[in-house]
Amino acid sequence: MKDIFENEMKLEFVSKSSNEAFARLTVAAFAAQLDPTIEELADIKTAVSEAVTNCIIHGYEKKQGIVKIIGRLKENEILLEISDQGKGIENIAIAKEPLYTTKPDLERSGMGFTIMESFMDTMEIESIVGLGTKITMCKKIKPKLQKEEEFQMLTKEERN
Ligand code: ATP
Ligand code: MG
Repeated sequence: MKDIFENEMKLEFVSKSSNEAFARLTVAAFAAQLDPTIEELADIKTAVSEAVTNCIIHGYEKKQGIVKIIGRLKENEILLEISDQGKGIENIAIAKEPLYTTKPDLERSGMGFTIMESFMDTMEIESIVGLGTKITMCKKIKPKLQKEEEFQMLTKEERN
């Protein structure tokens, strides 16, 4: 059965590095509807930044193309699909390894996928050489009541 989402957005923009901040901040504004903590929001922004940068730098390289983001909100979860129609990834398992990069000359550290995986709850890569790459990521946002209960359990010192 098809998932029912409470909200959905689509964003498309030209693969210019100057659009990375636009994408990150737009997704953050969308995610804000789930009332995330500053930390949760920072995690989402970082993951978006890594995925979008990959589309621009690796997917399209020096060419210009369109980066597409689909965002969906469902209960307390955000789902993101970030895709390009660029060159694609030959070996996904190798690309995912920490410190693996095909562009060491550009000061890349090869940590993008590792960061996405650790900052989000799930991260999947689909890619076809010559056709493009799609990253799907999900993150659960703790409901407000649960956050308040956890806060109440902290000692006075921990709160300050
Ligand atoms: P960093 O993200 O630390 O700056 P990086 O981008 O090289 O370095 P990852 O984000 O982990 O590291 O990506 C690993 C490798 O996967 C890249 O070097 C590149 O070869 C490939 N890759 C990642 N995203 C794409 C994409 N959208 N299109 C084509 N290749 C990609
Ligand atoms: Mg990267």
